[in-house]
Amino acid sequence: MSKPLIVITGASSGIGESTARLLSAAGYPLLLLARRLERLEALALPNTLCRRVDVTDRAALTKAVTEAESLFGPVDALINNAGLMLLGDMAAQDPTEWDRMLDVNVKGLMNGVHAVLAGMVARKHGTIINVSSTSGRKTYPQHAAYVGTKHAVHAFSENLREEVAPSNVRVIVIAPGACDTELQTITTNQQIKDGFQAWKAEIGGVILAPEEVAEAIRFAYEMPQKVCIREVVLAATNQTV
Ligand code: NDP
Repeated sequence: MSKPLIVITGASSGIGESTARLLSAAGYPLLLLARRLERLEALALPNTLCRRVDVTDRAALTKAVTEAESLFGPVDALINNAGLMLLGDMAAQDPTEWDRMLDVNVKGLMNGVHAVLAGMVARKHGTIINVSSTSGRKTYPQHAAYVGTKHAVHAFSENLREEVAPSNVRVIVIAPGACDTELQTITTNQQIKDGFQAWKAEIGGVILAPEEVAEAIRFAYEMPQKVCIREVVLAATNQTV
């Protein structure tokens, strides 16, 4: 039997890209979304529709899902992964940085849910996997705004899980610790970026690889529908924080 459609947001790099490669190799048709369309298309995955969608654009996200469903059938899973991390002290950080994080990490994630949830509830089948962070469970210096967005992801996900559990829809949170992706490079404060590199060196240079987070996502998804792995928190063994 052919496998069902999976939607992945933020599939142009890091965890989203690794998850796309893994799930495609496992035979799933995919809808891949990000702003850098060329990076999605360069993956050249079979049975895959790539669309340039900014997750803050609710209408564009919904339109892409509808288009993919017309090709591959109803979406069975959403990997709600697009996100960004801009670190800083609240007293000094440009408010447009936390605006962007709230828009993408929280509202963008909710836009993804909006695009797929009604169909899943009607079909009484489906899985939403929200990529949060250890920053959704604890706090770190200079992370206040980012931590706020990821705690929001955790709280929203748990409440959503309770809401849709009677409809046989699973809501799963994947919460990684530091992972070797482009996420660490976009903070605008150079001192904080240097601090991250110094911390990484202190713990021996070993943090998660995106492929390892992708494996956790696949494991949670491929459990039988009656099993909801509510949360996976994973980090490099030597990460103490
Ligand atoms: P990357 O920076 O490598 O990937 C982020 C992805 O999000 C890119 O594909 C990017 O695509 C996409 N994205 C960003 N903004 C938007 C937007 N407005 N619309 C659509 N797509 C967008 O980082 P990671 O792979 O690390 O990040 C993936 C998720 O994992 C994030 O939610 C992050 O918070 C979380 N995470 C990461 C950790 C880490 O240490 N790396 C640890 C814990 C959680 P494009 O720019 O092409 O739009």
